Amino acid sequence: MKGDFPTIFERGGNGLSSVELPSCSTPSKDIKKELPETALRKSPPKLPEVPEPELVRHYTALSRRNHGVDNGFYPLGSCTMKYNPKMNEDIAAMDAFSSAHPLAPVEAVQGCLEAMYGLQEAIAGITGMDAVCLQGAAGAHGELTSLMMLKSYLKDIGEESRNRIIVPDSSHGTNPASATLAGFTTVQIKSGIDGKIALAALEAALGDDVAGLMLTNPNTLGIFETEITKIADMVHSHGGLLYYDGANLNAIAGIARPGDMGFDMVHLNLHKTFSTPHGGGGPGSGPVAVKAALEKYLPNPKVVKNSDGSYGFACHEASIGMVKSFWGNFGVMLKALAYIFSLGWEGLEKASETAVLNANYCLEMLKNDYVLPYEGRCMHEFVLSAENLAAYGVRAMDVAKALIDYGIHPPTIYFPLIVKEALMIEPTETESKQTLDGFISAMKQIAKTARENPQALRDAPKTTPVGRLDEVGAARNPVLKSGK
Ligand SMILES: *Cc1c(COP(=O)(O)O)cnc(C)c1O
Repeated sequence: MKGDFPTIFERGGNGLSSVELPSCSTPSKDIKKELPETALRKSPPKLPEVPEPELVRHYTALSRRNHGVDNGFYPLGSCTMKYNPKMNEDIAAMDAFSSAHPLAPVEAVQGCLEAMYGLQEAIAGITGMDAVCLQGAAGAHGELTSLMMLKSYLKDIGEESRNRIIVPDSSHGTNPASATLAGFTTVQIKSGIDGKIALAALEAALGDDVAGLMLTNPNTLGIFETEITKIADMVHSHGGLLYYDGANLNAIAGIARPGDMGFDMVHLNLHKTFSTPHGGGGPGSGPVAVKAALEKYLPNPKVVKNSDGSYGFACHEASIGMVKSFWGNFGVMLKALAYIFSLGWEGLEKASETAVLNANYCLEMLKNDYVLPYEGRCMHEFVLSAENLAAYGVRAMDVAKALIDYGIHPPTIYFPLIVKEALMIEPTETESKQTLDGFISAMKQIAKTARENPQALRDAPKTTPVGRLDEVGAARNPVLKSGK
């Protein structure tokens, strides 16, 4: 075994994994002898040298050019940019957690495993599911993981020919992308005029070749699918399964559970609903929770509690395998656990209620200044359209850019795709009425400016280190090297 890559987990049976420590060989003293002459440096590298204060000032100056939840309102719809309690950071940074080695023997990391097990249990309770795996790196990764499990499940029950996944036209782009990556064909169905799934369209799309339906509830318009149990019955009666995209759980956590609505599999975005600073690409965590029939397909290994009260890892033969190295994004799991424990069931319920209240307050105050494409109450977020400003040559993009000059992060724009000039606003529960009123007055002022001086909006932002950027051009034709 010496020198071999360590076996981290034993597959198969119901046995717990044995974890072997890596047998690290000591690096050779005379490394120069092992490298070819041509690869060796002739002179030491020229590393830049700057005094520490200058380095600190450089990075501090850069950080001040950034906008984050800690320096202003951030109503980016679908992303749940809520305040992330600093206590969670302290807990995740505790030495016993942050210094734990992922290859340490289970006996040495019982506390870490207990935390992971506790989070698995909490997620099962919050979602109404039977089994949880914490490996996924983010929501999209959870989607892919679940759809791979669905593939294995269909194969086992002899229904491999089911190759279509239904998604509503309001769905997040990751849904069809994940379905395609997992080898399914995506079928898009049109939403009704009320912004919900049109049952007739769903019925027409169902058939013997349907593997399942992917749904966000509340959906990306911020509207709750009130017919969800009927939808679940329809999909199930045709032999398909229901997948819950948990990105909008912030509207219902502690109040309603996808498991009770008839969903068979869900992913959660811990970095959204359960408080980890995100944006700019991470870190995230996208656990997957499933009903009992799908448990054996969950990624290996799962954290289990043994009969003697100790914790370990367990693997299933039928598992789709590991989807993330080691334990997944452990720090994000700890923050989620701290968040759940510090709020408790009542606190989670209150957070959801306040998120919904804040969104409805903003909707009510702004619905006459912009177009409200779907009448009625919203959940934790709502979608407005800036179509009424088109007559002045002002677009949703201009509204978004103008908000920056008010010190507010723009909302999500041009999504969902079914709303023209969409502005998708998610205030979250952690904002005060004063902050919401400041946002409302900025949005009203922008609508007024559109009528009086539209060019001012097209020139925004004016207060930032750089003005209006061509983001699409930058993404399509990136300049990755300096000219030098
Ligand atoms: C954010 C989001 C996703 C993707 O989640 P990531 O964690 O960013 O991968 C999927 N669906 C919806 C509705 C989302 O808002």
